Amino acid sequence: MLSSRIHKISAGVACLVASLAAASVSTSAGADSADVPTYQEFEASTYVDVDGAYVVNGDEVVSGKHDLRTFYERLVAPPQTHEDGLIVNTVNGVDDKWSASQALNLTYCVSTRFGTRHDDIVAAMSAGAGLWEAATSKVNFVHVPAQDGKCTTRNNAILFSVEPVSTSQYIARAFFPSTPKRQRNVLVDDSIWASGNWEPGDILSHELGHTLGFRHEHTRPESGTCFEDNNWRPLTPYDSASIMHYPQCNGSSSDLEFQASDAEGARVLYGS
Ligand SMILES: [Zn+2]
Repeated sequence: MLSSRIHKISAGVACLVASLAAASVSTSAGADSADVPTYQEFEASTYVDVDGAYVVNGDEVVSGKHDLRTFYERLVAPPQTHEDGLIVNTVNGVDDKWSASQALNLTYCVSTRFGTRHDDIVAAMSAGAGLWEAATSKVNFVHVPAQDGKCTTRNNAILFSVEPVSTSQYIARAFFPSTPKRQRNVLVDDSIWASGNWEPGDILSHELGHTLGFRHEHTRPESGTCFEDNNWRPLTPYDSASIMHYPQCNGSSSDLEFQASDAEGARVLYGS
């Protein structure tokens, strides 16, 4: 989720988001292309994570330079209009989601490198996953404790890993179903325990929303700010209180609670 501690959010995430939004607006208006960052400027300004992945839109991951270039080109392309309707990530126009069988068996480990916080992360993951699982019986996250001692992206016994990270760039970050296995992890910074009225379970639920394919709700035009790109498809009407909506992007919820619209979106994408 967002970058850490409320103040740092504006410093970290919002800066990047603000520059992307500016690029998009000036492109769509046919304004001076000098306002649009070049790819080189964009790449240079993009945070490179501990595993070499690029972090975009605050807490989402792009695998390598080729994919970052593709991301940039979509970002500066003229926008399409969406009139209605949690939103799902799309890749080349196709929904970015798990197969029905995989969605029922989303296995993960929680690294023992969390140390004394290991059990707390296990509990927060369970709480976060439970919100989506309560929405639809077609989605099931499965913790595999036997893999916690070797919990990395290289462990093929699980679909994804949950690992600690030390960073000031974000509280946690996640991946999409289309992300290659080598970068399919949820990374969690210690600041998750000091994030004000954002409960750890809700923060991880937001991250698990990405792992199911859901995009930031605030990229929709109704938010009026924090635009990311147009590579998504609406599932429900816009909800400024969605758990996938950054509160600081004109959101109407300050506590990042899971909403009925989030449950509805999950059912639209995966079935009820
Ligand atoms: Zn996010």
